[in-house]
Amino acid sequence: MTTTQTTPSETSALAVLNRRDFIQASAGAALVFAMGNLPGSARAATVHTLPPLPFADTALDPVISANTLSFHYGKHHKAYVDNLNKLVTGTEFADMTLEKIIMATAGQADKAGIFNNAAQVWNHTFYWNSLKAKGGGEPPAALKQKIEAAFGTVDACKMELAKAATTQFGSGWAWLVLDADKKLQVVKTGNAELPLTKGLKPLLTIDVWEHAYYLDYQNRRPDYVNAVLDKLVNWGFAADNLGA
Ligand code: MN
Repeated sequence: MTTTQTTPSETSALAVLNRRDFIQASAGAALVFAMGNLPGSARAATVHTLPPLPFADTALDPVISANTLSFHYGKHHKAYVDNLNKLVTGTEFADMTLEKIIMATAGQADKAGIFNNAAQVWNHTFYWNSLKAKGGGEPPAALKQKIEAAFGTVDACKMELAKAATTQFGSGWAWLVLDADKKLQVVKTGNAELPLTKGLKPLLTIDVWEHAYYLDYQNRRPDYVNAVLDKLVNWGFAADNLGA
């Protein structure tokens, strides 16, 4: 794990970069395929990669322990990346970016496996960037203004986020989003679902799957959510997402 900051859009750029490298590296092999001597496709696939965490694995302790991160990032997030690469190989989704795969498979029952893994890759990268050591506190001015316009106060916004996070039944996510009218909203989604497919722009998220908190908090989801909102939430990341 390194301290390099990687946002989901940078992840896509990284995937494209990896694809270019792969194309270059496999140019010789492609020539052989083009000559028709070997079976298989010469088309280079996009390889999805696990982005580095934007902080050290002990940085969020004690709110989120290194032990939780080792499973959540090192096992769960990694598994979504590995599964996605396996599922898209040789399909029409093989050379699509992560966002394109998500949009192309959303709501299609026969593509649920690809959607779930692609969305969970995206969601987790977005979640890591929604957290930082010594987070919480006051949002940057432009974001604070938008929060106050929508919720009255920053505390009221945090309460809405906490409510969404604690009332999401079963696995899912709580989100601060920008809607089509450029107004902030808090929404919750189940399982791998995400606001991108509903025309909402995500600003930050909190993972409320049990694997996000069970090692540190057991069944006390509200304690995890409130600790994240008070001590780890990365308002600067949300403000950056507002700006684009
Ligand atoms: Mn998770």
